[in-house]
Amino acid sequence: MKKFGVYLHVPFCASKCAYCDFVSGVYGEDVKKAYFAALSGDITRFAERQANGRTVTSIYIGGGTPSSVDAHYLTDVLGLIGRSFVISSNCEITTEANPESLTREKAEAYARAGVNRISIGMQSASDEVLARIGRAHTSERFVRAAEIATAAVGNVSADVMLALPGQTMSDVENAVGLLSEAGMSHISVYSLKVEEGTPLQKSGYVPDEDAAADMYSLARSLLEERGYKGYEVSNFAQPGKECLHNVGYWDRSEYIGFGVSAHSFYDDTRFAVTSDLTAYLGGVRVTEKHYIPPESDEAAEETIMLALRTSRGLDLSAFRRKFGRDPIAGKESGLALLRREGLVSLTDDRLSLTPKGLYVMNEIIVRLAF
Ligand code: SF4
Repeated sequence: MKKFGVYLHVPFCASKCAYCDFVSGVYGEDVKKAYFAALSGDITRFAERQANGRTVTSIYIGGGTPSSVDAHYLTDVLGLIGRSFVISSNCEITTEANPESLTREKAEAYARAGVNRISIGMQSASDEVLARIGRAHTSERFVRAAEIATAAVGNVSADVMLALPGQTMSDVENAVGLLSEAGMSHISVYSLKVEEGTPLQKSGYVPDEDAAADMYSLARSLLEERGYKGYEVSNFAQPGKECLHNVGYWDRSEYIGFGVSAHSFYDDTRFAVTSDLTAYLGGVRVTEKHYIPPESDEAAEETIMLALRTSRGLDLSAFRRKFGRDPIAGKESGLALLRREGLVSLTDDRLSLTPKGLYVMNEIIVRLAF
């Protein structure tokens, strides 16, 4: 049976962070109620029409801040998914949460509804840095949320950001120390991108790219020392704790996204739901649709780009079998140079980027003209 992942977008937050341009905001209960009713309608219609012969192997509730809404919204939707689709017995079910809104009652309700993984946005272990970027929590509140999540579901991930205003190398060291001591099974590390129109951009803050690179390499080595393996450019996990839902994105597995701004890849077609919440509530759904023939150059390029994000890299034999061409033919001299620079590795018929190469992934892809 074919497998697919399900993504649900929850566009609600307790407050808006200074750097954030995600589709999320602060709304009243009437909007939340209308939103989840619309989302449930979409799930039911999709299940009736299109999910035949496929099994759900991962569900990911992201946002926004899923923990900012009453738990029954999430548990009701999970119940509906369980009734609407075939769910694999070991389905990974993740919800994102923020420290200020994750309570014991909510975490226990999630666990009863089948959630077996919680991903918490910590971003920094420094209260001063957290205040500067407008986060609604302190590091102490994060520690409490991590305990609550661990007691409820056991498998807990956390996010850290780099190149934040006022952040130092020792802040990064503290964050990694705090997360590993809190028993996180998985840690995501992202560099801040200052998005147009956000309060942070308007404040004139420009991240120092060299500092960001140093912080990334420090975080990476500290995480590896503590037993976390970098399995994708931004993601580190204890053995066996990789996020299966995200691995599906990089493998080009099928997934269907429900809710405002959600993206999907299904039946060789990429499509996205409108990012306008008012339009969504008014009945607007898919705004872009793009079919990618399975053996086309575009499918081949996507396969290469996505695989090179991961530590496993690109399986050259599988690629040749599927696309009938050699992805590295004619690139021998470019590859030799990149290997000498310690940026790529070519072993066991696999092409992958080294940790140093992952940090400059886009540059390498341009140099190899994939
Ligand atoms: S909690 Fe997350 S989604 Fe919400 S405003 Fe902050 S960064 Fe954006």
